[in-house]
Amino acid sequence: MSRSSLAKYLANSIAPRSKHRRPTGLLHIARLPTFAVVTAILVSGCAGSQPYRLQIDRSIQAVSQSSRVSEVVLHYTVSDTPRALEILSKRNVSSHYLITDETPPRVYQLVDESRRAWHAGESEWYGRTSLNASSIGVEIVNQGPVEQGWEPYSEHQIEALVLLLRDIVARHQIHARNVVGHSDIAPQRKQDPGPAFPWKRLADAGIGRWYDETKAVQLTRHYQRDGLPSVSDIQKKLRRAGYAVPDTGVLDKATRRVISAFQMHFRPASYSGEPDAETIAILDALP
Ligand SMILES: [Zn+2]
Repeated sequence: MSRSSLAKYLANSIAPRSKHRRPTGLLHIARLPTFAVVTAILVSGCAGSQPYRLQIDRSIQAVSQSSRVSEVVLHYTVSDTPRALEILSKRNVSSHYLITDETPPRVYQLVDESRRAWHAGESEWYGRTSLNASSIGVEIVNQGPVEQGWEPYSEHQIEALVLLLRDIVARHQIHARNVVGHSDIAPQRKQDPGPAFPWKRLADAGIGRWYDETKAVQLTRHYQRDGLPSVSDIQKKLRRAGYAVPDTGVLDKATRRVISAFQMHFRPASYSGEPDAETIAILDALP
């Protein structure tokens, strides 16, 4: 119905013409203001003003705020650069960044940091689960396990990674303990970035968590002399270090996998998952 016909319709329904009965004066007086209001609404609502345009004033920013990003998760791709690019940009997995194995390496950003990349899967760190929601994922082109051991990361890749991580950590104020490997947050399923990944080198560059090496040497002697703590205590120590670990008090397969993930990160010379004096000493010497 057009505006003029709607107005006519309203006018007619308010003051219907009658052949038989003239409307009383009182009725006229009572209905006139209603008619005036309806007309005013029609004029002001439909014809006169512009539709409301959303304008957001960002001139005042709250002091109480922080980034939604709490962790950086590092991965190896297993596949080569072209295949990794194909998979990470077109399949149902992705990462925020990909560092290639070219010289010098190219650093691709495939997902904006404000958005969720699908790199972590089922995961847990310090009780926080499903870390896709809160982390930035960095994939590094590396074959992982090869015939004789593990493929080393190139010096160029680590240099690029250090620069990238320094920037990410500073912008999002990420805590050192929250720079982690996929194996740290999903020890039952994942081994990347693997024992060839130079965590110590990163720590020397001021990135990520490392342990007090002097304290670890002393504690290693202590555990060698006095024996290891109970499995239940070891599980508690791992949990305090951030890992999702069973609470069984038994050195089961799942607990061994967590110990192995811890060893790959902090003591990669041996990562069998067997608890030993040095491993427990390092756990104790973590900040
Ligand atoms: Zn991964």
